[in-house]
Amino acid sequence: MTTPLAGTAPLIDVHAHFGRSFDTDRRRLEAGDRIGISCHVASILGTWGTASPTYFASPDDVTGGNTSMYHIADHDPGRIRAYIHVNPNYPAHALAELERGIARGGIGVKLAAARRCDDPLLDPVCEFAAAHHLPVLHHLWQHRTRHWPGQDISDAADLARLAARHPTVSFIAAHISGGGDWQHSLPAAAGAPNVCFDLSGSGCDRGMLDDGLQWLGPRRLLWAADVTLCTGLAKLRALDVIGLPPGDLADIRWRNAVRIFPPGAFAATAAIAREGA
Ligand SMILES: [Zn+2]
Repeated sequence: MTTPLAGTAPLIDVHAHFGRSFDTDRRRLEAGDRIGISCHVASILGTWGTASPTYFASPDDVTGGNTSMYHIADHDPGRIRAYIHVNPNYPAHALAELERGIARGGIGVKLAAARRCDDPLLDPVCEFAAAHHLPVLHHLWQHRTRHWPGQDISDAADLARLAARHPTVSFIAAHISGGGDWQHSLPAAAGAPNVCFDLSGSGCDRGMLDDGLQWLGPRRLLWAADVTLCTGLAKLRALDVIGLPPGDLADIRWRNAVRIFPPGAFAATAAIAREGA
């Protein structure tokens, strides 16, 4: 077997997506194998905009997307784990989906951009997450010059306010710069110890990872790829060349994920680490 591009050490993608088509899902897994991804933690955001907006999915679409995601994870639970995606604008449906998701093996909560993330509507979702030791991955999105329909703005400062209200929940700020300005996002959340950043998407700007390490430290960064596996690989290359101590790299590649997700969520990945030791 060819050596994976990112080496044979464990590698958890904490921000993956499936469900665009059978063909793209299959190719994602093939590309993941080529890179060396041990586990994809993934969600399907409703119908990806076909029947309701991607970032404001209807209750039926949320349920359908989650059901498909649980089926995909069932096929290979060591390599694929599911987030429970909910839309907090439908509070009763969101809580019912969370209960169902726990029973179906969900290991985290995925929130898109259906509500600004410091809104009180997110509190019941976060209380559920606290009770079940689930991290909450929140899509961040900055574009304050105007409102975009179906996609509420939320930046790292908003997420830090939510995190302060739920200090026992681990929050993951999606794709490091939130589709915007990482030079703003990193210091804005630095004072919130329960906010981590995933490294997915957002290109690979020079200085982005160095600043992430400076503001947050290696224990609050989680490797991820989102839908752009190429930028995930580029960030691994960048982490290699900035001279990170091996223990810090292992934290970012997988050990931080093991810490913030429920116990046993990555038993198969931990087994890879023991074999390699
Ligand atoms: Zn996402």
